[in-house]
Amino acid sequence: MVTAPWVRLKCQYGCGGYGSNLCCPPYTPTPDQTRAILDCYERAILVHCKPGTDVKKIVVALEREAFLAGHYKAFGFGAGPCGLCRQCNLEDCTHPDQARPAMEACGIDVFATARANGFPINVVTDYHCDQNYYGLVLID
Ligand code: SF4
Repeated sequence: MVTAPWVRLKCQYGCGGYGSNLCCPPYTPTPDQTRAILDCYERAILVHCKPGTDVKKIVVALEREAFLAGHYKAFGFGAGPCGLCRQCNLEDCTHPDQARPAMEACGIDVFATARANGFPINVVTDYHCDQNYYGLVLID
């Protein structure tokens, strides 16, 4: 899993999700904090999804299954801003059991991480391009 300081720039300048919900920066862990968190784990599941798949729902379900199986440190990361509420209250999450931050929102370089694990991902230049989305579940 690759983290990098530049990833947040893409959230802050260019994504409408920035500051709009508790699962996006500046509310999410910094790249340095995420690196320290990732280093607490030896095993994780990288979830490869195609368009139309609810990545967050999958990682939340996997996190729950892993936790109930005894992996008490299990934690999931999704893709993209949280859309569970019409408008985020930006203070106290109303769905803490379902809301999970996006990988990129925490400073994870999703492109480098996917490629390092042999999965496809490329810059999408139009709607005909192959699209790939990723989630992550830390296990241990
Ligand atoms: S579930 Fe609602 S309150 Fe929680 S982060 Fe998502 S939008 Fe915000």
